[in-house]
Amino acid sequence: MLSYGGALLRRAEADGTFAGCDALKGHTVANLLLASVERVQRKLSVIAGTAAAADVVGRIVAPEEKAWFLSGKDDGANFLTAYAPRGTAPLTDNQYTALVRARLNLTVVRGFDDAAAQACPSCSDIMRNGVPLAGHVTRLRRNGTHALHCQQPGRGGNLGRRTTQHHRVKFALVEALRPCARAADLHEGFLQRGPGEPKVTDYYPYKAGVVAAPDTDNNRADIAVNMNGACLLDVVVSHPVPNTNPACAAVAGAAAASAHEDKIKHYSIFDIPVGKCVPLSFETGGCFDPRTLSFFKAFVKFGLASGAETQPAWDAATRIEYNTRLRSICVYVSLAIARSVADTLLANASVLPSRTLRAVVGGPPGPVCAGA
Ligand SMILES: [Zn+2]
Repeated sequence: MLSYGGALLRRAEADGTFAGCDALKGHTVANLLLASVERVQRKLSVIAGTAAAADVVGRIVAPEEKAWFLSGKDDGANFLTAYAPRGTAPLTDNQYTALVRARLNLTVVRGFDDAAAQACPSCSDIMRNGVPLAGHVTRLRRNGTHALHCQQPGRGGNLGRRTTQHHRVKFALVEALRPCARAADLHEGFLQRGPGEPKVTDYYPYKAGVVAAPDTDNNRADIAVNMNGACLLDVVVSHPVPNTNPACAAVAGAAAASAHEDKIKHYSIFDIPVGKCVPLSFETGGCFDPRTLSFFKAFVKFGLASGAETQPAWDAATRIEYNTRLRSICVYVSLAIARSVADTLLANASVLPSRTLRAVVGGPPGPVCAGA
């Protein structure tokens, strides 16, 4: 055994490969050693990062700021170091600065006064069923994150920006997924570019007994991909709001998880096989729902496999290609979220100076004072 190992090593030393050993074929001495070091480094970084993040969350007081911090963990930090993928623009200095300032809870909203709670002038006049929006809904935050869930209506308003944000992330996903699909699967509406949306009933019928108009918005998904049958994807980008979902202030990704469940419920009127309806759920901080990441992994593996196989024949080269493709999808979508969130922060940075302000009265979830 020792002499076999010795011979392998001598040969590896001579030509730099392990061609004589099937289990190590495709590896070199260098990448074998470096891979282990990198694995250990990655594990240590994760442990150190998790401990540091828990320490920071413990020091933050406001639940909204805890939630925002947690939403920016892990995948939410991709934009800090990622290069823009081919064919896309890098973040501008302004976008990058706005995002970093918001993450550090520095003032993004110009004219923001730390001494008194301020209501957003864009949504504090809104009445729902004759009642003004609650204080926690309209309260501005210095880091600009109110704009990410502001109820201001209209095409140019914040709800309009959320629609644009959804489209931008959806288009980025199509561009990111296309190169990872099998070429033969880019047909008949699968991963198509453009504004059209796949009709669910083109692939799967309504459940027996469901009475629904045939062409309503309910009958639409965002993207269709082919993975041994049509798989329908629905993109959702949520902002973590602890007042409506307290778990957001304690668990990273709670808003994305909740949006995932809502989407599954939304599609439950259709007779879709398990695994063929996948919400792609993200948060404004950049966090991915783990089930979204699992789909990306399955999709990349399927793209590298052939026939009815869902996994490729794994070797060193396939593993490298798998990691490269998966990383490229994550970076693509992370930058799309970062760009659109930064644009919303920048568009709302000057929300205060030109508007008449109304004070927020009482702590959340108190009402806005109509007479202020
Ligand atoms: Zn607002």
